[in-house]
Amino acid sequence: MQDGIRNQACFHCRYANDCGGCTLSELPYGDQLAVKQARVTKLLKPFGYVEPIRGMENPTHYRNKVHAVFAADRRGRLMRGVYREGTHRVVPVEHCMLEDERADAILTTVEELAREFHYQPYDEDRRTGFLRHALVRAGKRELMLVLVTATQEFPAKNAFIRALLAAHPELTTVVQNLNARQTSMVLGKQDRVLYGKGFIEDTLCGRIFRISPQSFYQVNSAQTEVLYRLAADMAGLRGTETVLDAYCGVGTIGLSVAERCRQLIGVELNPQALRDAQGNARRNIITNARFFCEDAGRWMQQWAAGGQTLDVVFMDPPRSGSDEAFLNALIRLRPRRVVYISCDPATLARDIAYLQKGGYVMRRAVPVDMFPATEHVECVVRLSLPE
Ligand code: SAH
Repeated sequence: MQDGIRNQACFHCRYANDCGGCTLSELPYGDQLAVKQARVTKLLKPFGYVEPIRGMENPTHYRNKVHAVFAADRRGRLMRGVYREGTHRVVPVEHCMLEDERADAILTTVEELAREFHYQPYDEDRRTGFLRHALVRAGKRELMLVLVTATQEFPAKNAFIRALLAAHPELTTVVQNLNARQTSMVLGKQDRVLYGKGFIEDTLCGRIFRISPQSFYQVNSAQTEVLYRLAADMAGLRGTETVLDAYCGVGTIGLSVAERCRQLIGVELNPQALRDAQGNARRNIITNARFFCEDAGRWMQQWAAGGQTLDVVFMDPPRSGSDEAFLNALIRLRPRRVVYISCDPATLARDIAYLQKGGYVMRRAVPVDMFPATEHVECVVRLSLPE
């Protein structure tokens, strides 16, 4: 087992049976790590050695993004909870062991105030009511609350915000997100800033990052630093390279290594995240970065078709992994190194097998425990062409 990590009992969650969010919570932490190690090793063994998983010293309250859904309890009163894993049944949960404690306190107040103000929870079946979800993004110093509502009209808005801020002066911004659609997506498209600047800034790997309500941001900041350091190390940059950060989100991976390369290109599909990435480059006075708002596979094909080159590629796709358009173009472009960051080892293994057929060899593979108590596991892998 990794130094500094005891095989402590992770915790006993009183909601474990109802919520279903953290399937490994009953296992001592060391055993959880062993389960994840075994899973990744099984999937990646055909390609090479898998290093020991990097675990957390304190595997609780790590989630910086906390989500609550509102529903009516048996007596018809508004309550907050979470969706039971894989369903739309709302389970009342307070004080989740995984979530940031500052966020938890804010959500408790939102629930209390919403009752006081007689806000109706949204009813998914009847499509009535007002308050759907609340989302907290907790940075090291800044905190954002997003209130997802079914109507644009926000009854007694100013009094509600005033009461909220009186109880939580640590909140730096509050945003209303309108989601009037019948959808399982939490956020709608329209944001209205009710207080503050409408986004938070957080520091990661010595850089400042702006995060908007809709932008992806890794949920476990402490382990993200571990992950990005490994990724940067695997890239082995010397200062002369053209580097691609594909599926770049708000630009965190690329911007944290920008000063170690000649040119950085980021590609991201979500326009709000892309705007954050561009702002983040400016905010950190990084002048050698460019960002494109496009499907990563399409962008790669165009780059290859234009006869352009890439020396190093970071790729961090969603759980579904990358696609053939992207991987084929990558094989054509023949970057010296590929650093693949993945939150699903099954699609990672599938994509490595594809790249292997294209001549790439897996040189290093390290699992990182970004999601203690759940079965999810992150991995970072270095691939390169034979010398
Ligand atoms: N590298 C970032 C974000 C990783 S999450 C970080 O570490 O924070 C994956 C990102 O891929 C999300 O921001 C998502 O919006 C984006 N994405 C999903 N499908 C995409 C596609 N087809 N092309 C480009 N980006 C995509």
